[in-house]
This record gives sequence, structure tokens and C-alpha cells, in this order.
Amino acid sequence: MPIRWRLTIWFVLVLSGILVLSGVLTHNLLRNYLSSEIDDNLSIYTARVHGTLHADEVPVPPDYNVIHSRLPLVSEFASPGVYIQLVDKDGTVVVKSDNLGNQQLPISPVLVQNALKGSVELGTLSAGDGARVRVIVSPLLLQDRTLVLEVGQSLHSIELVMNRMRLSLVGGVLAAIILAGVLGYTIVRKTLSPVKQITKTARAIEESSDLGRKVNYHGPRDEVEELAATFDRMIGRLNVAFESQRQFVADASHELRTPLTVIKGNLALLKRDLSDEDRRESLQAMRSETERMARIVDDLLILAEVEGGQVSRDEKVSLDEVLLDGLTRAQQLAGDRNVVLGRHEDLFVRGDAYRLKQMVGNLVDNAVKYTPDGGSIALSLVREGGFARIDVADTGPGIGPEHVPHIFERFYRVDKARSRAEGGTGLGLAIVKQIAESHGGSVAVSSKPGSGSTFSVWLKL
Ligand code: ADP
Repeated sequence: MPIRWRLTIWFVLVLSGILVLSGVLTHNLLRNYLSSEIDDNLSIYTARVHGTLHADEVPVPPDYNVIHSRLPLVSEFASPGVYIQLVDKDGTVVVKSDNLGNQQLPISPVLVQNALKGSVELGTLSAGDGARVRVIVSPLLLQDRTLVLEVGQSLHSIELVMNRMRLSLVGGVLAAIILAGVLGYTIVRKTLSPVKQITKTARAIEESSDLGRKVNYHGPRDEVEELAATFDRMIGRLNVAFESQRQFVADASHELRTPLTVIKGNLALLKRDLSDEDRRESLQAMRSETERMARIVDDLLILAEVEGGQVSRDEKVSLDEVLLDGLTRAQQLAGDRNVVLGRHEDLFVRGDAYRLKQMVGNLVDNAVKYTPDGGSIALSLVREGGFARIDVADTGPGIGPEHVPHIFERFYRVDKARSRAEGGTGLGLAIVKQIAESHGGSVAVSSKPGSGSTFSVWLKL
């Protein structure tokens, strides 16, 4: 069921509950108030009769005319519909107020019996034709007998009021529920319309695969605006990610195509009648291009593994050991270059020793590759805040500031020909960055052309 319907239904249900509850409460309060008004009135008249009719003033046997003359006058204006009558033990009406005319109050034998036993009781009796009368009965003690005093009031007028009220309440509640339903649905629909817009855009993106599209919702600064903005940001990032993925595939294909072209060309050459020397050269070229392809594929694989999360974060790794491994590698490759071990503290991180050694190895390889003979390479490991910092510095040619923001990108090289000649794949620093980031760290370079470079890796301790 659509959310707008669910919200409207809930809204209407809650409102109906509140309205019905308050309606029932108001109705009952009014009914109780009116009933107690009537009961009070009946009690007042009962007390009045008892106050004016003293047993010793009534002759024995009783003269009902005397009793009738002593009944209090019922004011039709102050207490409309109040009637008084006296009933003997057989249930016969012996005296009644003038306003009853030739009618009489209904009599309940049970109430009469209870009153004769001495109790004062209230009751509601039917007077025929659907009319109801509220009565109070009490014993009236005369010298030789006990009569039952019955004071009653018609409930007709309050039943009329209550019926009207019930009708108005039901009508009012129904009207309010219908109005709330219509208004609620309109408001919810209007509030959710941007969500519909977002869904429409998402669907259009899905159908057209065009990640350049945006919702571009401009409305009040609320949750919906936040959702639309977040959606736009997410699509923007996906677009960048897809674009870089596409670029990566194109770059990788391009990188692999060059050695393949060389191999194909040499294979074609080998078919010809070549001298031994040329044949050897051809085979040598094919071998070095095959090795190159293997290196690219190896590096791509490493990158995919690290990106895919194949990096352990559980091992306790001694960074000093990682640094000394890099130092050994540097010494093995250094040739006439000077290798220096700077400050190296005893620091440990949680991570993947193999990958961290790979990371330092890549930095060392670059330092050796780009530092001319006679230059020097220095490695150090220090604590910096909550991080361990590994520096691999060299006295090579340095990197121009225009290249610095790009050198960690895949296949980016400052000097492509030189990188190729040195056997570089253009993926070394991209791998360094991925490994550092997968350990909650980062990598940066500070370099000035002509005065060497320092690559620094920060790893969370
Ligand atoms: P490559 O396989 O080409 O070395 P990298 O990703 O390792 O690829 O490095 C990218 C580029 O950064 C290199 O082509 C080189 O131009 C530059 N670079 C990396 N390390 C150094 C360094 N120590 N000194 C100077 N330039 C460097």
C-alpha cells in the first residue's frame, strides 16, 4: 500500500479515536449532569412534602383532601414536568398534584414495597408511548398507616436534548473524519511529491544509465530536501567512480596493447628469413614485453585484491621490521647509491605485514629507480600523534608541483618513456595509496624538482 494511503489512514484513525472518545466523554458528562439535576430536584420536592405534611396534623383515618391541600405547589415554570402523588400499600393512588390532571405517575410495585419497608429509592419507569419518568419514592408515615410518596419528573426534555446532541456529535465526528481524510491525503501527497520526483529521476537513471542526471530539488530545508541532496551527491560520486572505472579499463587495455603490438610485430618478423642476430634480438624484445605484461597484470591483481578488501587487519605488525625489510631491499638494489637508515622507533600496528612490506617495497623501488648513481636514499620510522610515519626520501630529480596531485593515480607517470625504460607499470604508487588507506592511513609526497622527494605514509597506531 502506498505510504500516502498508510499515513492518511493512520491520521484518520487516530483523529477518529480522539473525536469519538471526547464525544462519548462530553455526552456522558452532560447526561450525568442533567440526571443529577433531576435527581436533586426530586429530592428537594420530596423534602418539601415531608416538611409540610406532619403526621399529627392528618386526621385518623386520614382525610385525603387535607393531605392534598398540604401538598407544595409545583411551579410549572421553575420545575416543569414535576409531579407528586401518594400511593397506599395496595398501589392505589390516593392523592396527586393538580398538574397530573386525570393522569398518574407510573408505579413500580418493587419500589412501593421497598419504600413501605422504609427506604428511599430512585428509579426510571416507563410511562407508555416511549416516554420515561424518573421517580423517587419514600415512606410517608401517618398516625395509623404508611403511604408511599412518589415524586416524578418526565425525562422527555432531557432525552430530546441528548438525542439532538448524539446526532450532532455523530454528524460532527463523521464530517471531521471525512474532512481530515481528504485534507490529510492532500497534504501527505503534496509533502511526498518530491519523493516521487526522486523516484522518477532514479528510474530514468536506471533506464538510461545516465549518471549525469540529478534530481535538482529546490524546496524548503527539510528531510525531503536532505534526501534529494544526498541522492544527488550519491549519484555524483557514482558517476565519478564509474567514470574512473571506465578510464581505468581504457588505460589498462592501452597499457597491455603496447607490449602486445610489439610481440605481434616480432612474431611477424620471426616468420621471415632473419639472421641469427636479428632473431635473438626479436626474441629478446618479445621476452621483455611479455615480462612487462606480466608485471602489469601482477600489479593489477594486487590492486584488485587490496581494493576488494583482501587485507588482513588482525596481525600485530612490527613496523620496524617492515622498515628493515625495505632497507634490505634498498641495499640490494642500490648499486652506487647510498642507503641510510634514519630514526626508527619500535612501533606496532594492526594490519597485514605482507601488504605493508609490499607498500614500502614499492616506495623503495621508485626511490632507487629515480635516483641517479651517487645519490642517497633514506628510510625512517617515527611516531606522530596517533600515527606511525614512515618516510622514504631520495635525492632524485623530484616531482613538479603540477604532477604531484596526480602521481597516485593509476597509470600516471611524469615521464612515460623513462618509466617504461625502467620497467615501471604506473601502478606502484596507486598500490601504495590503496594499502595505506586500507590500514586507515594515508600517503603524501613532498618534493621539489631538482632536490629529491620524500614519500610519507601515516598508519593509525
Ligand atoms: P612507475 O611504475 O612509473 O614508477 P608509480 O606509480 O610507482 O609508477 O609512480 C608514478 C610516477 O611518479 C612515476 O612514473 C614517476 O614519474 C613518479 N615518481 C614516483 N616515485 C618517484 C621518485 N621517488 N622520484 C621522482 N619521481 C617519482
